[in-house]
Amino acid sequence: MESLQKLLMHELEDLYDAEQQILKALPRLIDESSSPELQQALTKHQSVTEKQVARLDQVFRTLGEERGRTKCKGMAGLIAEGEDLLKEDFEAATKDAGIIGTTQRVEHYEISGYGTARTLAATLGNMKVAHMLEETLDEEKEADRLLTQIAEASINPEAEREQETGGGNGRMRRRQSSSRPKTRNTRQRSRRTRSRSKSTR
Ligand code: FE
Ligand code: FE
Ligand code: ZN
Repeated sequence: MESLQKLLMHELEDLYDAEQQILKALPRLIDESSSPELQQALTKHQSVTEKQVARLDQVFRTLGEERGRTKCKGMAGLIAEGEDLLKEDFEAATKDAGIIGTTQRVEHYEISGYGTARTLAATLGNMKVAHMLEETLDEEKEADRLLTQIAEASINPEAEREQETGGGNGRMRRRQSSSRPKTRNTRQRSRRTRSRSKSTR
């Protein structure tokens, strides 16, 4: 096998394993999120991910190569970090913001992996494979955009309100963290966010 094709195979096997890990992790992330919008976005991405796995199978068939096993350590690390975050005691919307952070890290990992694989396939002159990989790349970018949109429109403002009210359960640890002195910039930023969310009402 040509060595560039061998590199492409390695990238694709890594992505295949990454997608499998995401499929395993998504149900827990959906379960742990409170925002219906976030749950909906993650549920949608789960079915998109299933199609992406099928597309990768098609890529291997098109290349006429047998898929070997590669463990994606990067994705394992990202998911492990996400699990650590879930163990922390955050209010609902703040936890949702953390889940968005985890998921966007995952999307960015995939975006770089699919971008690299797409470009390798194009370099090898395999435009059919390059286009299939680009299709997935666009889906990952779209998922990333949607998550930013949800964070900005609802989850982050809600998480900020949560921190101001202590989420209504008034636990000491929370009160301490919300009364932590803020830097001037943070204060200004919060005020801006607040007035913006009011004006959209
Ligand atoms: Fe994916
Ligand atoms: Fe990887
Ligand atoms: Zn994805």
